[in-house]
Amino acid sequence: MQGLMQDWPLRVSTVIDHAARYHGEREVVTRTVEGPVERCTYRDVHGRARRCAAALAGLGVREGDVVATLAWNTHRHLEAWYGITGAGAVYHTLNPRLFPEQIAYIAGHAEDRWVLADTSFVPILEQLQDACPGIEGFVLLTDRQHMPATGLRNALCYEELLADADPDFAWIQGDEGAAAGLCYTSGTTGNPKGVLYSHRSNVLHSLACNGADALALTSRTVVMPVVPMFHANAWSIAFSAPMAGAKLVLPGPRLDGASVYELLDTERVSFTAAVPTVWLMLLQHLEESGSELPYLQRVVIGGSAVPRVMMETFEKRYGVEVLHAWGMTEMSPLGTVGVLKAGMDALGFDERIGIKLKQGRPIYSVEMKIVDDAGRELARDGEAFGHLLVRGPAVVSEYLKGEGGALLDDEGWFQTGDVATIDPEGFMQITDRSKDVIKSGGEWISSIELENIAVGHPGIAEAAVIGIAHPKWDERPLLVVVPVEGAAPSREDVLDFLRDRVARWWLPDDVVFVDEIPHTATGKIQKLTLREQFADYRLPTAR
Ligand code: AMP
Repeated sequence: MQGLMQDWPLRVSTVIDHAARYHGEREVVTRTVEGPVERCTYRDVHGRARRCAAALAGLGVREGDVVATLAWNTHRHLEAWYGITGAGAVYHTLNPRLFPEQIAYIAGHAEDRWVLADTSFVPILEQLQDACPGIEGFVLLTDRQHMPATGLRNALCYEELLADADPDFAWIQGDEGAAAGLCYTSGTTGNPKGVLYSHRSNVLHSLACNGADALALTSRTVVMPVVPMFHANAWSIAFSAPMAGAKLVLPGPRLDGASVYELLDTERVSFTAAVPTVWLMLLQHLEESGSELPYLQRVVIGGSAVPRVMMETFEKRYGVEVLHAWGMTEMSPLGTVGVLKAGMDALGFDERIGIKLKQGRPIYSVEMKIVDDAGRELARDGEAFGHLLVRGPAVVSEYLKGEGGALLDDEGWFQTGDVATIDPEGFMQITDRSKDVIKSGGEWISSIELENIAVGHPGIAEAAVIGIAHPKWDERPLLVVVPVEGAAPSREDVLDFLRDRVARWWLPDDVVFVDEIPHTATGKIQKLTLREQFADYRLPTAR
């Protein structure tokens, strides 16, 4: 027997409708690309998004078309997302941190028809427009006064388009399963692959993110997503903030410590989110300037693991609660958030930090398990570690155009490519990437755990561990180290330090010292490059 409730399509336009109607006066504050800080409201964003949708329809954009954005976090970018989806089209966030050739490949693969871009990205677009014949034109997210002289074809001024557009445009009412957004994974191997979010997955994911044991945004929260909208949906905040009626502060192009601090302070931000690199810059600025964070209550950190000292500094020195989060583009992106459970508040500081340093527990709608190489489920005992598999309504089912083939197993589980433990309370901890874990004599050694311990050595600034082929053990760990400036730790010294802290069979077979460890565009250690660099390396134990 079917239920007898209404079929109310979960379209993202319902989010901005709700914000405009019930939180119409709530502010959206932007540090603009042009420089000044500007203020508008959810009512303004709603009205302008409708004009944006009308303007796009006027340019010939139809249901299912893909419209790209190449933009910082600003109110115009936010309006564009709601405008594009409201016109029935799909917003496609291009990542300006990629090489122009990669952006051109992605724009071509996605079949982008128009690009809405900040003026700061005009030089990149001029470089790649010839490689993207499918792009009909470019809308520059600025007013007439700031329109640059450009050789871009069909370069239009966003504010002029909006001024001339129908303010009463009615949202296209399509199926909730229709595509709404598109974001390509950073793709450490092969070409980047497109993750195509639906209206339904975006709405459900944002509802889940707003759970009280997750991001818990409310109409009283002041939220600043420093995480860019081009990085996996800005961790849902572009939807979950208007859904809750939270005041939204958008930092535009300036993500340095001083600029981020200025907005945290003047706008009294209570909740913010970004990757560790951003918080490193902020903490440095705070220390140098002697500033405090009186308004900030919670900071979400994810994208890569939160270093212990960062968590301790926020919590102890500044009284800000850190929520460690994990996710991936393929998961819309949030999978886990490290909010403590009942009883855990009573634990001592170190114990609490120990739990919070794990990547967190699944938000509602994310199913999770760990398995061994043969696909057998492993114990949730916080000890066993295996491939992390996920399932849920906001998890990818296949990449755009079937790239990379079938993604799910027979039961619908998606391989995250991460290796993790899950403890009895449900807290998950990443111990490695599947392709980075070191397989020694049939057992696994966590490269990340070794790295974390190694950087505890006072003479080590950065450490990376990779597996090197070994005739007896299959693979053995090699520790690659960047020494702290002025320090010169010896191989023996480093191994002695580790000897007391890891199981004997985990001890690296060798240590090499380098000036630099390669990183990806998103700040992660590039193990692939490192492995190539050491492809001919022979361990002393293998000779
Ligand atoms: P992306 O799709 O670019 O966001 O990358 C997702 C990947 O980043 C995950 O599969 C993890 O390997 C890594 N990642 C994300 N959050 C964390 C975290 N909190 N700790 C460790 N690794 C993380």
